[in-house]
Amino acid sequence: MTGSGERGWIAVALAVVLTVWGVRTAWVDSGPSPSMIPMAPASATPTGYLAPTAAPTGYLAPTASPMGYLAPAATLTGTGEASLTRSPTYTATPTGYLAATPTPRECLAPTPTATPVGYLAPTPTPLRPGRPWPTPDVSGGHTHYWLRRPILPASRCIASAFYPYGTNGMGQYLTHHGADFPAKMGTPLHAAGNGVIVVAGSDREHVYGLFRNFYGNLIVEKLDQGYRGEPVYVLFGHLSKVEVRAGQRVSAGDVVGLVGEAGIAMGPHLHLEVRIGENSYRATRNPEFWLRLLPGRGTLVGRLLTSNGRSWPGVALYVRRADAAQKVYQTLYTYVDDPQVNPDDEWGENFLWADAPAGEYLLETPWGKQVPFSIRPGGTSFLEIRHDVGGTP
Ligand SMILES: [Zn+2]
Repeated sequence: MTGSGERGWIAVALAVVLTVWGVRTAWVDSGPSPSMIPMAPASATPTGYLAPTAAPTGYLAPTASPMGYLAPAATLTGTGEASLTRSPTYTATPTGYLAATPTPRECLAPTPTATPVGYLAPTPTPLRPGRPWPTPDVSGGHTHYWLRRPILPASRCIASAFYPYGTNGMGQYLTHHGADFPAKMGTPLHAAGNGVIVVAGSDREHVYGLFRNFYGNLIVEKLDQGYRGEPVYVLFGHLSKVEVRAGQRVSAGDVVGLVGEAGIAMGPHLHLEVRIGENSYRATRNPEFWLRLLPGRGTLVGRLLTSNGRSWPGVALYVRRADAAQKVYQTLYTYVDDPQVNPDDEWGENFLWADAPAGEYLLETPWGKQVPFSIRPGGTSFLEIRHDVGGTP
């Protein structure tokens, strides 16, 4: 517990919730399917990554409005202080920011039956702050939901939740520079926007990822539209067939190839990347933040930082529906501490929940704190949580 005189390690938590309305932009034609979207299945059950026992209930809810700032917990004496300042119970939490496996296992098999080979039990490691994290001004709320979904129907084109951008499967895999969309072998892949194909074929001769034959067969398209004065590249990896050639112009929706499992894939799926500024493996951003929004869904853009702005890498965060809080609905993961993982230039996120069904939720941190947030259809919700433990940072 923090006494009033122990100012040296006061735990500080600041949550900011900002919901941006009407920020959807659309320059590509034909919207996604208007059909109703089935609820996303709950993610894999928690892997014992954290033990949020004694999760505080009634953690700060000082305002009925989802807009604006929530008061820092330090001022909320009597409601949440105890939960924010107690000794953390995080010693058994495995983290993923050490590259744990020498085996290239870049992509998950899409089915639970295809258990990753050579699973390594995560080594318990205390949570440690990562590098200083960018803090852009998010007040503009500019988004870039430009990309048409490459697999149809669009409503089914939702990325695997366990291995999102910037994560490593809690230490089992390489840092992920893209997002994976499970699909059957041979499923047509559609261009995500208008542009020019700049790479088409295998990567046996040239390195486009971490090493040769990483993507097996790939396509890289340079979009006609730039972002903040820089070119935008969209990469499709692991194709079974490439149906375009370098230099070819394509329009959004054109079939450019077929889903496969070439390269280091562990099963048929599309590996999607967005690269900004240069066509390089180190220039990626979270591609799920670039896809056109689906009806009834929105995006949570999150930051989990120390009070002085360092990231908390490799952390599992549990999302519960506000009306069914006994069950974990979705697990999110903060980005690992890898300099080749890039937050969005305007949002500075270190975790993201794309394609979130509209609704009211609670986000649970490893420190047992629950923070409410809302997802609006077509909206982008911003959530920043700052927390220190013990002697950090
Ligand atoms: Zn992938």
